[in-house]
Amino acid sequence: MLECIKDTDAYSSLKLGGNVSHAYLFFSADKEKNNQIALSFARSLVCNTNSSCGKCPNCKQFLANSHPDVLILEQDSVKVDDVRAIIEKLSTKPISSNKKVFVILNAEVINETAQNKLLKSLEEPTESAVFILTTTKTDKLLPTILSRLKKVFVPNFSVQDKEKIASELMAGGVDIRSYVGRDFSLTEMLNLATNTSYQATVASIIDLFSNLNSTADIPRVVSAIEVEDKPLFLGCMLDIFLNCLNEKENKFDESVLAPVKAKFNKKALMKCLPLIDESYKKLMANVNFSYILDNLLFNILKERFLCK
Ligand SMILES: [Zn+2]
Repeated sequence: MLECIKDTDAYSSLKLGGNVSHAYLFFSADKEKNNQIALSFARSLVCNTNSSCGKCPNCKQFLANSHPDVLILEQDSVKVDDVRAIIEKLSTKPISSNKKVFVILNAEVINETAQNKLLKSLEEPTESAVFILTTTKTDKLLPTILSRLKKVFVPNFSVQDKEKIASELMAGGVDIRSYVGRDFSLTEMLNLATNTSYQATVASIIDLFSNLNSTADIPRVVSAIEVEDKPLFLGCMLDIFLNCLNEKENKFDESVLAPVKAKFNKKALMKCLPLIDESYKKLMANVNFSYILDNLLFNILKERFLCK
């Protein structure tokens, strides 16, 4: 399990700006990649150089699965007793690093009783503890748990994409600090770092909303749009709506957002955010994308109407 981290070391530069949240959920359609990235991130939290260097004593202990401040669960099922063991460990101070890191891989295997038990620790975090959960099935987690976790979406990348991302991030060309503290920040960062598909997707979504005036337009705009990377599409849409709400530090030109801002007031924009999030979950649960998009646009128009 731990050997495969090496080739995703580059992702550790996604330190999320040093602002470490106390609980993360890494989710993706790709279980292996998701777990690798989450583990790499976990390692960077105890690494002496904050980079999961692989060379410092903390990294070495992590890689040997013997780090005193790290607990990694990768089991077929996680029960209340397992959570109890975690809570016991929580009460002690970290020994050789600044953080105590608890990783639960494939968190969908945590049974409901255990999830409720875990919830308490997530609600009252200790200062040094960081929880990292991974899953490909967000619908298997209780909504109460989901709401406590900072969600990081891990997109499906090809090997070439990965190499390119790695080299560009390493070269330091991307200021990732400005994307700190946001859900889906990983998607954003990686896409901004690598290719034009992010900008192209943004443009196509703006175009879609420009042509969407009533529910009667839905079939036409949906058939006119070609969506290659579905998670990216929803991630971009979320980004557009978030940026329309954000007065300061907007990363798009005002003119880019204008068609969307003209149609949706703030209240409607706010109401649309959970709708997009919901669509993400459906996509991760393998629901047909056209169906998701039809529904999403219908509900977005409904919110626009209701918030007038
Ligand atoms: Zn290290």
